[in-house]
Amino acid sequence: MDTLSVRCNHCGAPLQVADKTRFVTCQFCHSSLEVKRTDSSIFTEEVAKIAENTGKMADSLEVLTIQNEIERLDRENAQALAESHVTKVAPGAGLAGGCIGVIILLMFTSFGVFFAVSSSNMGAPAIFPLFGGGFALIGIISLFAMISKAASGASDKPKRSSYETQREDLLKKLASYSDK
Ligand SMILES: [Zn+2]
Repeated sequence: MDTLSVRCNHCGAPLQVADKTRFVTCQFCHSSLEVKRTDSSIFTEEVAKIAENTGKMADSLEVLTIQNEIERLDRENAQALAESHVTKVAPGAGLAGGCIGVIILLMFTSFGVFFAVSSSNMGAPAIFPLFGGGFALIGIISLFAMISKAASGASDKPKRSSYETQREDLLKKLASYSDK
C-alpha cells in the first residue's frame, strides 16, 4: 500500500496517509482533514473548520442583526424618553401654573364683582364683572387643556414596557448564540 506524506493544514505536523485516503484526522491536533490532490501537489484542508466557519459566519450575521436591533431599540427608547421628558415636565409645571393662574383669575373675578357692585352703586357701567368672568373662563379652559396634556403624557408607559420586553427577547437570543 502506497503512503503519501502530507502536512496537517492546522498544526503542520507530518502525516502519512494511504494513497486513496480522502479524510484523515491529525494525530497531533486532532483536526479533521481532507486530503486534496492536484496534478503537482497533495495538501490537506481542515474539514471541521470549513463547516465551523460557515456556521460561525451565519451565527455572527445573526448576532450582528440582533445587536443592530438592540441598538435601534435603545435609540428609539432614548428618543421617546427625551420626548416624554419634555412633555412630562411641561404639564407638571403647567398644572401648577394653571392652578395659580385660576386662583389669581378668581381673585380678579371677585375684585371685578366687588368693583362692579360698588361702581353700580355709584352709577358706573357694570364692565368689571365681564372682565373678571372672561379671565376666569380662560383660566379654566387652559387648566383643562393642561390636565388632558398631562393625561396623554402618562400614556407612554406601556410603550416603554414593550421596549423592555423586546430588548429582553433580543438579549436572550443573543445569549443563545454566545452559548454555542
Ligand atoms: Zn494537526
